[in-house]
Amino acid sequence: MKTDQDKSREELIGELKELQGLLKDAEASETALKFAKIEAQGAHAYADNIIATMREPLLVLDADLKILSTNRSFYTTFKVTPEETVGKYVYDLGNRQWDIPRLRLLLESILPEKAHFDDFEVEHYFPAIGHKIMMLNARQIYQEEIGRRMILLAIEDITELRKLEREKRNIFSMFAHDMKNPLVSSEGFLARIISGKAGALTEKQQKYLSIILSELNKVSHLVSAFLEFSRFETREYKPVFASVDILSEIKKNIEAEKMEAEKKQITLSLESPDTAFSLIKVDAAMINRVIRNLLDNAIKHTDCGGFVTVGITDGGSELLVSVKDTGTGIPEDHLPYVFDAFYRVGGGSKGSGLGLAIARTIVELHGGKIWAESTPSEGSTFSFSLLKQ
Ligand code: ADP
Repeated sequence: MKTDQDKSREELIGELKELQGLLKDAEASETALKFAKIEAQGAHAYADNIIATMREPLLVLDADLKILSTNRSFYTTFKVTPEETVGKYVYDLGNRQWDIPRLRLLLESILPEKAHFDDFEVEHYFPAIGHKIMMLNARQIYQEEIGRRMILLAIEDITELRKLEREKRNIFSMFAHDMKNPLVSSEGFLARIISGKAGALTEKQQKYLSIILSELNKVSHLVSAFLEFSRFETREYKPVFASVDILSEIKKNIEAEKMEAEKKQITLSLESPDTAFSLIKVDAAMINRVIRNLLDNAIKHTDCGGFVTVGITDGGSELLVSVKDTGTGIPEDHLPYVFDAFYRVGGGSKGSGLGLAIARTIVELHGGKIWAESTPSEGSTFSFSLLKQ
């Protein structure tokens, strides 16, 4: 190896330059590191500010479910202090009031598998604040640079909202119930008068009274539909589950609707499934009601000579039933609302706007989902899922 004395001047200058280059690189990386640190601090401060200003309580947990940080809303809602909260295991919070079996299931099983969960309702008695209904949303965040997993848990107190909804349902239900009896007896008496049982009527009197009766029938029909809807909503009607051959139920419903379809020369058919379906546990009367409603709507909104096709497919853990038509379709801006109570596209429809709302309640009571896809002037497809269990 050459000593410094042996090296030529050129060689020494070359080495010096190399060293200077390395030094510059080191300085550059140090500056980059500084910037990265500032950026990271900025991102942290940004995230902290978002969390702090959120109106709903938020918890940031580490992978072991220990609380890393939270916001003011959490402290005020749950009446706890930062000292009692940060660094503690979520289940240990406030005398273990957060040790809720459903929350454990969500955080320990569902979250690691799916990385998020949305709109999970948890009903629980919290010693400090009483009985509450909470809506939980969570996201699992993976910080790649430091290999750390964090959980962002948003908690919305929906107790008051649910109470108002319940009160609203009760008021409407009482109102419809109290209207029903006077309506039925008025219809009965009017029908007797029209038929001449209370004495002779002039032709004009009979004509006018018939118009009144027909209008009264419409109100009565609406009140009955509403009463039924509110009975589903208030859970007065509960599904009675029994093993059902869904394919044969679908076939029966198609048979029952054939006449209506023929009146408009609509081809009503079942897309033959290529697999056999095992029995599923549902309330047959309720599910038939959903299928009939979808078929009724499809026929009603399809022009003469069109097609209505029912499909059934195996979706793994669930069965999917669809009713497809070549009808008028539903404009995009109306589509998200067709399952809302009293919603009628175009307003002029003669229906109550409750059929799809009832269908949705029934499907949800069965743990399934219902949705619609549509292209105006081409047609619509209404589908729902049922758990196979
Ligand atoms: P209604 O008793 O008025 O039929 P629904 O709740 O069954 O009430 O339907 C809500 C609205 O959705 C209807 O008024 C109708 O405009 C629209 N709709 C439902 N099904 C279809 C369909 N297959 N094609 C087009 N529009 C539909």
